[in-house]
Amino acid sequence: MEITKSIFREYDIRGTYPDQINEEIVKKIAVAISLKCQQERVDEICIGRDGRLSGKSLLNSLSEGLSEHGINVTNLGLVTTPLLYYAAKKSKSKSGVMITGSHNPKNYNGIKLVINDKPVSGKEIFNLIKHKRDISSSPGKIISKDIKEDYILEVTKNIKINKDKKIKLVIDCGNGAAGCIAPKLFKNIGCDVIELFSEVDGNFPNHHPDPGKTENLKDLIQEIKKTNADLGLAFDGDGDRVGLVTNTGEIIFPDKILMMFSQDILSSQKGSIIFDVKCSNALPEIIKDLGGNPIMSPTGHFHIKNGINKHNPLLAGEMSGHIFFNDKWYGFDDGHYSGARIIELIWKRNESISEMNEKLPKSFSTPELNIDVTDETKFKIIEDFSSQCSLEGEKITIDGLRINFDNGWGLLRASNTTPKLVLRFEGDSMDSLNKIKDNFLNELSRICPDIDINLV
Ligand SMILES: [Zn+2]
Repeated sequence: MEITKSIFREYDIRGTYPDQINEEIVKKIAVAISLKCQQERVDEICIGRDGRLSGKSLLNSLSEGLSEHGINVTNLGLVTTPLLYYAAKKSKSKSGVMITGSHNPKNYNGIKLVINDKPVSGKEIFNLIKHKRDISSSPGKIISKDIKEDYILEVTKNIKINKDKKIKLVIDCGNGAAGCIAPKLFKNIGCDVIELFSEVDGNFPNHHPDPGKTENLKDLIQEIKKTNADLGLAFDGDGDRVGLVTNTGEIIFPDKILMMFSQDILSSQKGSIIFDVKCSNALPEIIKDLGGNPIMSPTGHFHIKNGINKHNPLLAGEMSGHIFFNDKWYGFDDGHYSGARIIELIWKRNESISEMNEKLPKSFSTPELNIDVTDETKFKIIEDFSSQCSLEGEKITIDGLRINFDNGWGLLRASNTTPKLVLRFEGDSMDSLNKIKDNFLNELSRICPDIDINLV
């Protein structure tokens, strides 16, 4: 069977089922993972899957493939990605493989993996696939384990709140894997929980499980208003990202959530905080003002995780809603734990989320914007734009081109996971924002006249 090279991405493996990724290909990938395990002296691994329709049979193939090549397998079944990471952190080998399509359309599936506590890129696995390997004479054992109770107990112990006055919380799991853990977790923490779409259903019949897109938060906003809730949390398909909506129904972008967490954590500890190129300039300013060390990173969990291993920060996060707590948690991205920390913050500050938001610096910004291009052209466009852009300002080239101006900033980068360009703009006034955006787009159409600039 022909393997499509493009499914092996910088951060993970992702493709359409069954043509690009299927049981046979997952078996081949399992052999490559067993080789990587051998290199890292790892002989046991946790595996799990999200709620996608193809998840169960792909997980079986993965389990068989690993066991046949001598790896002991702990099968966690249906879990979120953070539950898989948690199980991996708790295991001796610190290794895990997750079958997940994250927030991609429902016909997608893929693999995220961590071996020996380090992320492994899809490209590295692709290079290992070429090596043939005989089936082991001593196959690995396969055991099943439910990790959910351990996780709930540990998060509940970790989060300090007074349970006398209950916080009213709406959670929207979007029929993703989060439904298998989030309702129980937040009830156990002591919240009054109102559930939306907790039934795990790979058809995603209500809305797509991607809180990064505002249209997917409409039901949550409506329910918060209807029930007078204190806040709303939404999770993506595999539960590693969080979306936050205030008591007044306002969406809080993840860079603002990171500002709130930075203020909280830096008030008692000093250290580094990592964030991606898509975040507001106000974030590094807040971190610096509070005596912390801001570190800007390329976008993508692979880069953020490598940054965490290198810098051992207190906190890391991305505009996409991946937030990694490393102050009193394990340093992996966890939408549910991030949500629990928001609940803790409301208790600590005795303020509503909208009051906390009001106190943050005012800025005018766009959400993440996209322009459709192709996987083949996107990096060339970025290369041309970076080398020929004549706009004056502080140029940052760690991921695409970000230019910091006196009155705001603009960013153009290539998406690593989709055939799109990613843009974001921020200004100190609406006028500055519009000017920066217009200047960027004019430069883009001057340098790359063939692009159809249709921002979505
Ligand atoms: Zn995800």
